[in-house]
Amino acid sequence: MYEAVIGLEVHLHLKTRTKMFCGCRADYFGAEPNTHTCPVCLGLPGALPVPNRVAVEHGLRLALALGAEVPERLVFHRKNYFYPDLPKNYQISQYDLPLGQGGSLPLGERAVRIKRLHLEEDAGKSLHLEGRTLLDLNRAGSPLVELVTEPDLRT
Ligand SMILES: [Zn+2]
Repeated sequence: MYEAVIGLEVHLHLKTRTKMFCGCRADYFGAEPNTHTCPVCLGLPGALPVPNRVAVEHGLRLALALGAEVPERLVFHRKNYFYPDLPKNYQISQYDLPLGQGGSLPLGERAVRIKRLHLEEDAGKSLHLEGRTLLDLNRAGSPLVELVTEPDLRT
């Protein structure tokens, strides 16, 4: 007899008017590819990201609703890696000072403990069509909360 012990990493898309670090509109669904981009979300040289206040407020509300411990200040990091739909070679994320640590999500009589949640930006999208790969960077830079649970789910 086996028991599956499960912890989850969940990406939550925050409903904001603009992306995480630039003024590009975040309502890109159905838009022509690469029409919601700018030097910041494309990571062009000299572009300076500015955090989206509403995204931070949404993330903080979630952290507080889960009973997470919230730090006095937020720090963002560059997580360096190449990925075809992240052509700037890094993702802006959080590491040692996440938006929230601890807390829990009640599920009936049990609760799933929250390990951490942090703010980050999403990557773009690869479209594989007839042996070719096309890139749409409209999603690049969209605001996300990454939420990591303790392994409290079992079946
Ligand atoms: Zn942009």
